Amino acid sequence: MKGKTELVPCEICGYPVVNYESGVCMRCEKCGWQSGGDNIEYEEKYGISYPMVVPLSRAKVQYKEGKTFKATFEDFIRGLDFYSEMAFTYKCVKYGVCYRNDYSVLFYNEMQTWSFPTKDAFYKSASIDGLLLKDIWDEVKDPRYL
Ligand SMILES: [Zn+2]
Repeated sequence: MKGKTELVPCEICGYPVVNYESGVCMRCEKCGWQSGGDNIEYEEKYGISYPMVVPLSRAKVQYKEGKTFKATFEDFIRGLDFYSEMAFTYKCVKYGVCYRNDYSVLFYNEMQTWSFPTKDAFYKSASIDGLLLKDIWDEVKDPRYL
C-alpha cells in the first residue's frame, strides 16, 4: 500500500509532480528536477539542494538557459559538508569523496585512493591524471550524493 500522495508544482518549471507524504517528490517529467524536501531552506542553510545538489535559485537559471542541472565544484564541497559522502563520474570512471571521522577527506575510485588532510586541501589540490579537479570540473558528470 502506498502512502498518501498529492500533485504539487515542480519547484523549477511548475509542471505537476507527485509529492509523497514523506516530502519527497517524484522526478519532474518535464525538466528532470527532483525535490527531496524544502530546497529554499536547504539553500539558505547549507547552500545546496536535495537530492540534486545544485542550489534551487541557480538551478532555475540553468533551466531558463536550457542547461542541464549541474552542481559547481563549490556546491559539491558544500554537499560534502551536508551529506559527508559524494560521487561524480569523469571519463566514465566513478569517483567517491567522503569525510573520515577526523574530517580528513578520502578521494577514491575502484583502483586507487587519495587522502587529504582537510576539505580545503582536497578542493585546491585533488587531481585526476595530473589535472586539477577544479580545472576539469566542466568535464565532470553527475556530481551527486552517494
Ligand atoms: Zn520541472
